[in-house]
Amino acid sequence: MTAKSESWDTRLQRAEKLARDSEPTKEILTFYAKLLQSQKEVDEFLRSRRGWLPSGSLAEDLSVVRECFSIVLRTVEANGPAPLADDARSLMAAPGGTVDEMLLEYWRTPSDTQFFAKAFLQPYARWLAESGGHPLDRVFETTERLCPFCGGMPQVSFLQIREATSESGSRSLVCATCTTTWSFRRVACAYCDEERPTKLGYFHTPEYDHVRIEACDTCKHYVKGVDLTRLGFAIPLVDEIAAAALDVWAHEHGYIKIELNLVGL
Ligand SMILES: [Zn+2]
Ligand SMILES: [Zn+2]
Repeated sequence: MTAKSESWDTRLQRAEKLARDSEPTKEILTFYAKLLQSQKEVDEFLRSRRGWLPSGSLAEDLSVVRECFSIVLRTVEANGPAPLADDARSLMAAPGGTVDEMLLEYWRTPSDTQFFAKAFLQPYARWLAESGGHPLDRVFETTERLCPFCGGMPQVSFLQIREATSESGSRSLVCATCTTTWSFRRVACAYCDEERPTKLGYFHTPEYDHVRIEACDTCKHYVKGVDLTRLGFAIPLVDEIAAAALDVWAHEHGYIKIELNLVGL
């Protein structure tokens, strides 16, 4: 299985399995599984809308898209950590226009601290990509380090065997905004392009043998890498969250994550 065959369902099943298996991260994975369930419902709502496809202009699409925002709010209110649940309640009670503004701001300038907009717009952006659209009302830089579809930051990197003859595996990045994957140089920092091997460090623990920290000593940023050549059924977005212990190590060593994940790690 490769990241390409990932669906909301395969992510959800993986999160539920890891939540059952891992005591230290049970709580965050249980919450993430609920969140994935709500993202799946948003996806189904958008896809089942008759005679409608996302235009790529979120400002234009909001009249349809905002109808299902409450799915995410209700999920977080019921299952999220207390501060997020409070934020969900505030948003439910917020005057008209508040949510629209928040979503448009994220769409134009994605930020990993905009939890609700990021969680909610992932299925929208994903469906936009799959339905052949393009983001229209946002401007982004075109560089190998950013998502070629939407300009989003990499959430996680992964290695997979692309050809039967390739032994080492090729590296790809997963977009934090739309979950598109794109290939990236195997030995290079995904934040500043550093390519000197002496400046690039790796760290992993025996507990998560297939997940490692990929850190750069030039810009002090890191991303987690999931090695699908070691564990083929891993799901990069989910296994990255399960290996939360590695983030603690990275922070203790002064590294900054390129993009925080949806559980804020
Ligand atoms: Zn993207
Ligand atoms: Zn760097």
